[in-house]
Amino acid sequence: MPAIVDLSGIRFGRLIAVRLAARAGKHTFWNCSCDCGATSIARSNNLRRGHTKSCGCLDRELRAHWNEVRGAAAQEKRQAEAARALGRLKESNHD
Ligand SMILES: [Zn+2]
Repeated sequence: MPAIVDLSGIRFGRLIAVRLAARAGKHTFWNCSCDCGATSIARSNNLRRGHTKSCGCLDRELRAHWNEVRGAAAQEKRQAEAARALGRLKESNHD
C-alpha cells in the first residue's frame, strides 16, 4: 500500500483539497472546496495530473462558452448562405 499523499491545502485549478474523504484500493479521494463556493470530491491522481480542476463549474462554463462560439459561427454561416442566395437571385434577375 503506498502512503497517502497529503494534499490538504493544495490548490488544483479552482479546487483546494480540504481533507481526505475516502480511500478505495490504491485511490484516495479528497474533499475539495471550489472557488465558486461548491464542494466536491475528487480522486487524488486526477487532481495531481490536472484532470480535475473544478467542482464541474469550469466544465459548465467552458461548454456554455463553446455553445456560444458555435452558435455565433452557425449564425454567420446562415447569413453568408442567405447573402449567396440573394446574390444568385440578383444574378438570375439579369437574364
Ligand atoms: Zn466550482
